Amino acid sequence: MSEISVLGIFVADISFSGPKIPAVGETILGNKYNIGPGGKGCNQAVAIARLGGKVNFISKIGTDSYGKLALNTLLKNKINTENVIQDPNLQTGVAGILVDKNSGKNAINVIVGAPSTFKISEIDDQINIIKKSKIFLTQLELPKEVTLYCLKTAKENGCLTILNPAPASEIPNEFYSYIDYFTPNETEAEFYTGIKITNEKDAQQAADKLINLGIKKIIITLGEKGLFYSDGNEELYLKASSVKAIDTTGAGDAFNGGFAFGLSKEKPIKECLEIANKVAGLSTTKLGAGDSMPFFKDI
Ligand code: ADP
Repeated sequence: MSEISVLGIFVADISFSGPKIPAVGETILGNKYNIGPGGKGCNQAVAIARLGGKVNFISKIGTDSYGKLALNTLLKNKINTENVIQDPNLQTGVAGILVDKNSGKNAINVIVGAPSTFKISEIDDQINIIKKSKIFLTQLELPKEVTLYCLKTAKENGCLTILNPAPASEIPNEFYSYIDYFTPNETEAEFYTGIKITNEKDAQQAADKLINLGIKKIIITLGEKGLFYSDGNEELYLKASSVKAIDTTGAGDAFNGGFAFGLSKEKPIKECLEIANKVAGLSTTKLGAGDSMPFFKDI
């Protein structure tokens, strides 16, 4: 039995690092490129597995060369691949990523590919593994009805659920009652609440607004400022680790993976957040998304 099930996508991240992120119409000369594993779901699964968590990844890929990269990544990281559907008629997802090498900040265009065709009718096997999991973690890169169905089933079967609401997009209100932990970054928190997050007080207001929608616990990640947590009573603010960030791609995924791992080990909330914060901080010190996830010994 897997302790943690992650539903999400794999994409091959094709990233270009340069002196800046080019503006519309501009061409610049960059300094490095890399093709590596990405996709929020896959990154989060890798983060959990590298910490030593037992994780099952639920997804869909093609049989093209990027599909092979997906399987190699999962196998190398000891992630259960039984629930990764392979369809020879579909393309594996890809993402074009532009990284500013000075700040580590990025701009990303994701082509979801195979998993964009996911349907509720094809995930019976996957649903069973979710039901048996302790923790269910997902994002918003798959068709909403599939995500909602899985969250609902997870909650009805006693799983702890985490929704990383990224990329930010409209979700029906029904989602909220099935979420234990909601983990937006600042931009996503603004999208869901209309409150621009510039400091701890804004984060607190945004969290209150989300709790009023019916979500149980809110974690707003604040980039290099750290994170804010609230369950409506207890509030925690943790500063980010002081690291030299060179590429923040996948920092949020490292955070969610680290957090799910902490929860699966039944650590108290503060410790789960500390693990997540540390894992995420370390992930920014390496290039790439999936490949930048730290191992248990690193934390
Ligand atoms: P996302 O990657 O989803 O946009 P954030 O930018 O909020 O999410 O980053 C997620 C987490 O990664 C933060 O809460 C923090 O723990 C860590 N992090 C991000 N940027 C840095 C940084 N420059 N230095 C240290 N930690 C960072």
